[in-house]
Parts: sequence; structure tokens; C-alpha cells
Amino acid sequence: MNKYLFPIYAILIGVVIAFITKKQKSVHTKLLLSFSGAFLLALTLFDLLPEVYHHLEAKQTGLFIMCGILLQIILEFFSKGAEHGHVHMHKSNTIFPWLLFLSLCLHSFLEGFPIHQHNDMVYGVLIHKIPIAVLITAFLLQSSYSKLQIVSFLIIFALMTPLGTYISNNLDIASAYINIINAVVIGIFLHISTTILFESSEGHKFNLTKLIVICLGVVIAYFI
Ligand SMILES: [Zn+2]
Ligand SMILES: [Zn+2]
Repeated sequence: MNKYLFPIYAILIGVVIAFITKKQKSVHTKLLLSFSGAFLLALTLFDLLPEVYHHLEAKQTGLFIMCGILLQIILEFFSKGAEHGHVHMHKSNTIFPWLLFLSLCLHSFLEGFPIHQHNDMVYGVLIHKIPIAVLITAFLLQSSYSKLQIVSFLIIFALMTPLGTYISNNLDIASAYINIINAVVIGIFLHISTTILFESSEGHKFNLTKLIVICLGVVIAYFI
């Protein structure tokens, strides 16, 4: 059951944090983002990558991972990087941000696929989603969208990952393509997690706290 509920908890936790921290962008959110990037990257390398290489032919796996990286690059033209931690939109805009919404939903839907009983990807997705939910909620609260629009945005966004997990775990059609989709998701994860780690080092200045947090993410993912 946790494989369905954890991604939803992540959004709930994110919304609560966004309400508590209000408008200030806290150092803690940035550290959490760095941790989530390292943790997701490590879990992908330790858990998901060997699993997919085991089921698919090596070169084919590489090809689909590459497709995932390209897909995420394309999605970010529309989301402006919301999947890896920053939302830039004109705050006065009252038109519902359809492109941001749809690209985030597709991203979340796909990242539900590799979650199943036999791996720990659900923890990676849980940790990855919390800072993203914080940033998106903060953005929505500052925007001039109606309450109904904000609530629907968050609810649908929260349900996309469990929907992906449900389809990958229960539908027969999905089981034939599951390894291909998982390879694409590896590409997505590789792209977002490395981007988080890259963007989190401002001007490549040495930051001990950040480095410790990143190492912690890798170590926890290793021993989980
Ligand atoms: Zn970015
Ligand atoms: Zn994601």
C-alpha cells in the first residue's frame, strides 16, 4: 500500500512545509533538494539500473535511457525546470499554467512506473517529491489563480504517480513494456538528479553542509 501512498504523502508534506515557511526560500529547502538529488541518483544507480539492464539488451537499455534524458529536456522547455526545483512564471498571470501542469503530470505519471514491491524506488520518489511540492505550492500561493485551480492542480499532480504505479503493477499491456518505460524513467531521473546537484552549487563555491548532505543521500541509498 505504501507504494501508492508515499508519493501522496510527499505532496502533503510539501504543502505543509510551504505553508509554514511561507514566502521565504529557506536554506533547508535547498539542502533537502540537494539531498533528494543525491538520494534519487544513488537509488537509480543501485536499484533501478541493474534491474533494467538485467531484463533488456544492453544497447537497447542505453538507447531508452537516452530517450528519457531527451524527453526530460523537452518537458523542461514547458515546465521551466519545476521537476528539479525552480519555477519561473510571471506572478501576475491569471491564465492557468497548462504547459507547466501537463509536463509535471506526465513526469509524475512516468516516475510511478518503476515503483514496485521489490525495489526501494518509492523512497527515492518520496524524497524527490517533497521539495518539488514545496516549491510548486509556494509558486501557486503567490500566483493569482483561484483557490479551486490551486487545489485541483495539487490533487491531480499528487495522483499521477500512484496512477503510473497502478498501471505498471496491474495491467498486462504494461508488463510487456515495463522495462522499456523504466529505462526511460532512468534517463529522466539521471537528468533531474544531476541537474539538481549541478544547479545547487552556486558558482562552484565549496559548501561543506551541502557536501555532507549529498554524501548522506548516497550512503543512505546504499544501505537501504
Ligand atoms: Zn534548472
Ligand atoms: Zn519527479
